[in-house]
Amino acid sequence: MTAKREPTFRESVDLMFNRAVALMELPPGLEEKIRVCNATYTVRFGVRLRGQIHTFTGYRSVHSEHMEPVKGGIRYAMGVNQDEVEALAALMTYKCALVEAPFGGSKGGLRIDPREWEEHELEMITRRFAYELIKRDLIHPAQNVPAPDMGTGEREMAWIADQYKRMATTDINYRACVTGKPIHGGGIQGRTEATGRGVQYALREFFRHPEDVAAAGMSGKLDGKRVVVQGLGNVGYHAAKFLSEEDGCKITAIIERDGALIDESGLDVEAVRNWIARHGGVDGFPDGTYIADGSKALENACEILIPAAMEGVINLENADRIKAPLIIEAANGPVTAGADDILRQKGTVIIPDMYANAGGVTVSYFEWVKNLSHIRFGRIGRRQEEARHQLIVDELERLDAHLGENWQMSPHFKQQYLRGAGELELVRSGLDDTMRSAYQAMREVWHNRQDVTDLRTAAYLVSIAKVAASYRAMGL
Ligand code: GLU
Repeated sequence: MTAKREPTFRESVDLMFNRAVALMELPPGLEEKIRVCNATYTVRFGVRLRGQIHTFTGYRSVHSEHMEPVKGGIRYAMGVNQDEVEALAALMTYKCALVEAPFGGSKGGLRIDPREWEEHELEMITRRFAYELIKRDLIHPAQNVPAPDMGTGEREMAWIADQYKRMATTDINYRACVTGKPIHGGGIQGRTEATGRGVQYALREFFRHPEDVAAAGMSGKLDGKRVVVQGLGNVGYHAAKFLSEEDGCKITAIIERDGALIDESGLDVEAVRNWIARHGGVDGFPDGTYIADGSKALENACEILIPAAMEGVINLENADRIKAPLIIEAANGPVTAGADDILRQKGTVIIPDMYANAGGVTVSYFEWVKNLSHIRFGRIGRRQEEARHQLIVDELERLDAHLGENWQMSPHFKQQYLRGAGELELVRSGLDDTMRSAYQAMREVWHNRQDVTDLRTAAYLVSIAKVAASYRAMGL
């Protein structure tokens, strides 16, 4: 057997894109216009640290400007390169279109191992990188709005926002130049948990459709399902936490950098997370079994596999050994195009990245709107909503007194009904609605078109159609 070459990440995304556009009738040339990455800026800059100048390489890639600003995270990792950043930028275009976040796609990256640097050094490096991007309008509230990604979080976003503010001193909308900021620095409640929360909402929606559950060879509800999670970073941690604490799932394996923990009776996600924070890895955790070759646990028997770390972890080499009937791509690009072919033939259902992890950018959109409107969601309406509810409760209480023993309000009704929604509840409600609608748009294509046999192709069809429509509206 001749070994098939694994395509690069960007080739993988292009292959999946091509599979989908082959089923569409786009005007000549538009297909290529959409597929290609518009521009990628590479910057090499020096920062004086520890007595010498260190040179860093960073990228910001803009895939599609059919809507502006363009949007996408900034990743800090040693593996960052142009191919990867362009693949991720393309996924952002499709992701935003699918969940109707009004942005084009972009992505950034800095080749750095953040664990090698002290906080004050990371701040200098981040500010310098931000400076290079800001002066070219590659960070700008109206043009290009970064967010966290692998290796970055609230802290880096706060530095970027502050750097922008220093350079654009008269821009009243400076806070909207980046999302994923800390709550006291212009952020929004629920952004940190958003991607993991989105994974939970996506699975809940999937399990609302018995037909779809059956397509994955399963039955029943989310409750009691065995889940294997790869990567207990921000996304994997929140997804695993919510699924185990709120939906009755059992987390039977957690795969981390230094190995995997396996426990068929279900791992305590919070305890594992605390252990990693203290010991730097999962080795030595008192419960479950530890194995050093963590990637083996991807092949464990379970109902739901959640790759929430790197791209390309399910590939030509291990795809045929994956036992999970359902994979939800919490990471970007965890399944290569070749592995996707193998899994599709096996009947594995894959909930694709551009949908599965879109919770992050969805709440980023809410944060950006909040920053531009300069007001917290719920600030104006909340008490008025409560007052109107009070009217009904008063009326019911009057009825209660009148009817006596025959009728009573249920105990928690009053308390719950009287409370107006705060920002966090509104954010979660908006996220839930977004995840449900986008899933329904995908599944309609999946079930109604004979030539579409998987959710990924369906997702591409929905999103490419939207991107094409906005190009057409521009007269292209
Ligand atoms: N980095 C995240 C992603 O890949 C979030 C992007 C954003 O919020 O702009 O979707």
